[in-house]
Amino acid sequence: MKRQLGLKYRLDPTPQQAARLRVLAGHARFVWNHALAECLAARERGERVPRYATMAGWVTTWKRQEATAFLTEAYTDNLQQKLRDLDTAWQRHFTPGLAADAPRFKKKGKSRDAIRFVNFPKYCRLDHRRVKLPAGLGWVRFRQSRPVEGRITSCTVGLDGGHWHISFQVEVELATPPRHPATAAVGLDMGVAHFAVDSHGTPHAGRNSFRQLEQRIATTQRRLTHKTRFSRNWKKQKARIARLHQKAANVRRDTFHKLSTTMCNNHAMVAIEDLRVRNMTTSAKGSLAAPGKRVKQKAGLNKAILDQGWFEFRRQLTYKQAWRGGLLVAVPPHHTSQTCPECGHVEAANRLSRASFCCQACGHADHADVVGARNILAKAHEQLSGQDLPVAPVK
Ligand SMILES: [Zn+2]
Repeated sequence: MKRQLGLKYRLDPTPQQAARLRVLAGHARFVWNHALAECLAARERGERVPRYATMAGWVTTWKRQEATAFLTEAYTDNLQQKLRDLDTAWQRHFTPGLAADAPRFKKKGKSRDAIRFVNFPKYCRLDHRRVKLPAGLGWVRFRQSRPVEGRITSCTVGLDGGHWHISFQVEVELATPPRHPATAAVGLDMGVAHFAVDSHGTPHAGRNSFRQLEQRIATTQRRLTHKTRFSRNWKKQKARIARLHQKAANVRRDTFHKLSTTMCNNHAMVAIEDLRVRNMTTSAKGSLAAPGKRVKQKAGLNKAILDQGWFEFRRQLTYKQAWRGGLLVAVPPHHTSQTCPECGHVEAANRLSRASFCCQACGHADHADVVGARNILAKAHEQLSGQDLPVAPVK
């Protein structure tokens, strides 16, 4: 069994190297945007969206044309990787059930600038705290905060929060398939006041820290409107906003990692609801003919779901369980909030409010999120004992 992981480090390029990185990233962005425009034009004409092989041919043509001849200075591998990403983005968009948005144009300074170097063993080299990159970059220093272990297959250089970073994609060979050391199982329900509540009754990860940051971002954003566009102060304010966004993203990712690690370390099976975020966000609005009920309440909940990054959390649980030889089971979300975990009675009236549950048949009362988590765990056990029921796919 092979374990794949990404190791990210802060890069310390010289001013010349940083300038070259900006050029390379600019070229890659240009190719993404131009290829995307061609794809959209093809769609407009009622044709299929071209695949990677076709797109790669465009680049050759662009290099010969005078207006886009600057692409000859680009690093071909970077451009090809961007086109592969674009192709993947389209294919994901066309895959039913994935709920992936169509690819969008990348804006300078707004979208994440990143370039990928594939075939690392052939074109790159690692030497203590520096890495040799092709495309005229040479040896670039990076801050090795932890050892780079395993076989490096590729690396990505990107600009985050004003700093260049490098991520090495490494492959580690595991001698035997792992066996999870724990025997316990847990159900997780997405909470309202908390990110998640487990079936033992413990709430996890309040989102106050994130809310505070959110408010600070809003305030900073408002101040921006009082400044003259492109003035020095406007630019400073812009940078402040970018830093806050970066911080918010870090806080969130960190919270998810801590929780998913705890859950996966202590439980051989983790059960969650198989939520499709896209479905939940569109259903609140309803259609023009059949407007949704309680749009406002649902919209509030939806926002919470979206910005709590349930999918990111699920992704982490999936790979962390796979590493340990544990299981992640996703169960269909029907009736998990209305079923009594004690007697099995199902009734909408069991759910008194968003927060409280009281069984109309046996009188069992608990916090609604805990009830949800217990039901999710019960469903997962049911699913595992049934042969034909699918286990959460490892993506
Ligand atoms: Zn009951």
